[in-house]
Amino acid sequence: MADLRLPTDSIVHPDKDRFLARSGDVDRHQANEENPFEAMMSRFDRAALLLDLEPGIYKVLRSPEKEITVSIPVMMDSGEVEVFTGIRVLHNTSRGPAKGGIRFDMNVSLDEVKALAAWMTWKCAVVNIPFGGAKGGVICDPLKMSVGELERVTRRYTAGIMATLGPDSDVPAPDVNTNERVMAWLMDTYSMHKGHTVNAVTTGKPVEMGGSLGRREATGRGVMLTAVQALDHLKMPVQGATVAVQGFGNVGSIGAQLLAEAGCRVIAISDRTGGWHNPKGIEVVDAMAYVRANKTLEGYGKGDPISNEALLELPVDVLVPAALENVITTRNARDVQAKVICEGANGPTTAAADAILDEKGIFVVPDILANAGGVTVSYFEWVQNRGGYYWTEQTVNERLREIMVNSFRDVLKLSQQHRVNMRTAAYMVAISRVSTVHRLRGIYA
Ligand code: NAD
Repeated sequence: MADLRLPTDSIVHPDKDRFLARSGDVDRHQANEENPFEAMMSRFDRAALLLDLEPGIYKVLRSPEKEITVSIPVMMDSGEVEVFTGIRVLHNTSRGPAKGGIRFDMNVSLDEVKALAAWMTWKCAVVNIPFGGAKGGVICDPLKMSVGELERVTRRYTAGIMATLGPDSDVPAPDVNTNERVMAWLMDTYSMHKGHTVNAVTTGKPVEMGGSLGRREATGRGVMLTAVQALDHLKMPVQGATVAVQGFGNVGSIGAQLLAEAGCRVIAISDRTGGWHNPKGIEVVDAMAYVRANKTLEGYGKGDPISNEALLELPVDVLVPAALENVITTRNARDVQAKVICEGANGPTTAAADAILDEKGIFVVPDILANAGGVTVSYFEWVQNRGGYYWTEQTVNERLREIMVNSFRDVLKLSQQHRVNMRTAAYMVAISRVSTVHRLRGIYA
């Protein structure tokens, strides 16, 4: 096979040795265990080192391509003008249009958005879909805003980042505190500026206006598919495998439901109000109906109450953290007894905790692989919008299965070849795909 590397002097940084020596400094990362940028960079650095990545490409991949900050003046219902700050970061578009969600939250910051944008680059590359990575956010408290105020924020933010948006350049999606209604406003605003309907400018839209069937279930389905692959690989029977799920929202509840349908026994579930443990098995569909009626699991009662912390330490075959980041840390990793951890949430395990889980022989399906089902069906949505031809839910699910299973196998193969854990292997797969494209494209000057 042809050597894809460019002549070395065109791209290699002369200070390669010093550069890579610095990138092996794990202690630096441990100093700030829960910082999202550090979490992402420490995994990236380890994989880059193992891949012997040229310092030139290393530097390119560390730096986001574009960072946009916009002021968003909005007329509030009170008649006063409020000015919000909106951010959009495009980390890397070498493999295709930037893809990544928009969140509305008071904790949005440029540093966090930059880390999450890079995360999207790796996630899209690990499942080999032709997208780059982006993320966006508006610093606001959506829980204190009316529907009208939210719509005005969304439309003005969209207008502010109009230059970057587009089906060929930057395709947002829902994230924390945004949903399909927000995506409908964004798509409408963009389309009004263009003078015609452009539904491929965003994904996660309502099905009635070009959203994909199966998108709502896609992340949970990907969690189920990768967890089953992990059990098969470890030669553990899926039938009767015990499962604990932290977070019973979109990802956790659907992941739990599909794992139960696959034959597993879900023995514990939780949400922000606490959890329920029943060694005989929890009826997931019944718990979902309870949450639909009551909003949370509070008062569910079919089992013994269990705290979110204790749930993580249950002796189960599969643990699915599907709520928050940084829940498995150096503080509790030694007490985790699961044989497999399948990361439904983004960043549930800190970089420093990875080493402890490795020591304990726990098989971790990392977030950038386990929860990539959502972005994969977002890609399907974009493909359907551009083709103007819509697939059945069965077709969506079959194609999702193919991508998730193949991606799991790609990562597993590399982890065996290099004797590294699945997380490092997933980053290696992703970084090598992105860096190959950079070598092929070269540097435009
Ligand atoms: P969601 O809002 O539907 O559900 C979140 C769940 O977590 C809720 O049950 C909530 O009660 C629970 N929760 C909140 N705080 C908690 C706490 N302190 N302890 C325990 N549980 C708590 O969100 P979601 O879409 O299911 O996303 C969950 C995670 O998955 C997030 O990390 C998200 O970034 C990640 N993710 C989601 C998707 C997607 O397509 N929805 C895709 C990739 C990654």
